[in-house]
Amino acid sequence: MRGLYIHIPFCRAKCGYCDFASAPGTPGDMDVFLKALALEAASYPALAGTFRTLYIGGGTPSLLSTPQLKELFSVITGLTGEVRLLAESTFEANPESLDAGKAALLKEAGISRVSMGLQAAQDALLKRLGRIALSGDFLKAFGLLRAAGFGNINADLMCGLPSQTRKDFADSLEWLLKLGPEHVSFYALEVHEGTPFSAAGVEEEPEAAADMYEAGAAALKLAGYSRYELSNFARPGRESAHNLNYWEQGEYLGLGPSAASYLAGERRANTPGTAAYIRALLAGEAVPLQYRETLTGRRKHAEKIMLGLRKTGGIELPDDIFIEFEAETARLTKAGLLERSGNRIKIKEDRLYVSNAVFREFV
Ligand code: SF4
Repeated sequence: MRGLYIHIPFCRAKCGYCDFASAPGTPGDMDVFLKALALEAASYPALAGTFRTLYIGGGTPSLLSTPQLKELFSVITGLTGEVRLLAESTFEANPESLDAGKAALLKEAGISRVSMGLQAAQDALLKRLGRIALSGDFLKAFGLLRAAGFGNINADLMCGLPSQTRKDFADSLEWLLKLGPEHVSFYALEVHEGTPFSAAGVEEEPEAAADMYEAGAAALKLAGYSRYELSNFARPGRESAHNLNYWEQGEYLGLGPSAASYLAGERRANTPGTAAYIRALLAGEAVPLQYRETLTGRRKHAEKIMLGLRKTGGIELPDDIFIEFEAETARLTKAGLLERSGNRIKIKEDRLYVSNAVFREFV
């Protein structure tokens, strides 16, 4: 059973730090995109009915109008059958484009989980990030989702932001926890080339971000959330099944610009260009790819380890892979970064913030 990811490449405006495939679009642009998406979905008839989880991300999926959302769900159900029967189905929303009507439609369509970006509770920081929704908008959208019956909500928070203090981050988390989301994700600011932040010379603050991460992780633990992946925290039983499939090297199909897939050992990603994506599909051609590679042998095993080590429970390795990487795991265990029990290896909890150094050993 696989995961299905759908990328909706539209946002009302671009945030200063964002390098995702997304841009403002007119209602007409969104209609044409949905036509192209339907054609791409129809090109995978053999996968229909094989999906266990669904994740509709972006971009800002909640920017689609009510009729467009209905169209989107009719495309999706062609591949998944009834959405409510999936093990998990997540919809990403931004507060500025969510209303009671859309929340009710998502519930009606069978969506079981909603993920929303808060990023920070201080409006001055949100404005500096170029976010449209301020903390009051998040509060309102959160209430709409609860009123519509959503009992599984994730909220994203960012750390290491320009001028963000450790207290700002702690206050944001405390503010969020009063709402009681079932799941929280942390993201450290990364400054990517081509973004307004990069042009403005904003610098990453990895040390401050690591401090905020660790303090935040401790606060979430006290509040009854467990860290099950480097950046993800959940109430018991609320871990994201869709994302766990990625970290377990399970198969997934991604539809839409920039969407990545992993099928039969092949990893590939669609072009990030929405115009090129639409043009190809409407002309009856295959979607241009950003990359395509087949993972085999040691590289496939190394990737399996790196993905598995993202989970705080680590990864149980089959004997042959364990032996193949015995030298690397011995070195990391001796350096105090890894813990080993039988064939299970995991990064020590107090070393999760240097996970990139651990991953580098396996590349
Ligand atoms: S809302 Fe999300 S996807 Fe859209 S521009 Fe902002 S960060 Fe990027």
